[in-house]
Amino acid sequence: MAYDKPIPTPSALTQPFWDGAREGKLMLPRCTNCNRVHWYPRHLCPFCHHDVIEWFEASGQGRLHTYAVQHRAFGGWAKEVPFVTCYIDLNEGDRMMGVLRGVDGKKPESIKIGSLCQIEFDQANEDVHIPFWRVVEEASS
Ligand SMILES: [Zn+2]
Repeated sequence: MAYDKPIPTPSALTQPFWDGAREGKLMLPRCTNCNRVHWYPRHLCPFCHHDVIEWFEASGQGRLHTYAVQHRAFGGWAKEVPFVTCYIDLNEGDRMMGVLRGVDGKKPESIKIGSLCQIEFDQANEDVHIPFWRVVEEASS
């Protein structure tokens, strides 16, 4: 089935992320001066303004920081409502927004903050694989 949701356009700045995504890996940018990870990709470190950023392969895991249930959407996303968007506290630092799969948007009370999540990728086209998240270990309530 053809991918029917919006597809981002990689740029020189974000290409390392998309190259990793194509191989099922989460690549993250890290400052070579202060060593802190930041998301989204930037030309300057948001913490110390250093301009040399390196990319590394991250664990692809993090903890659910918060979520929201989406009841209205357009295009291909309309078929998935109610779906869940999330913020993940990445193991390596900073926070990434995404879509959380494998949870029930009709029962938001069943979704546990702090649950361990793993990144996965959907192939949108030859070059772009879209990240989403899945709970792999539910936090105790
Ligand atoms: Zn820095």
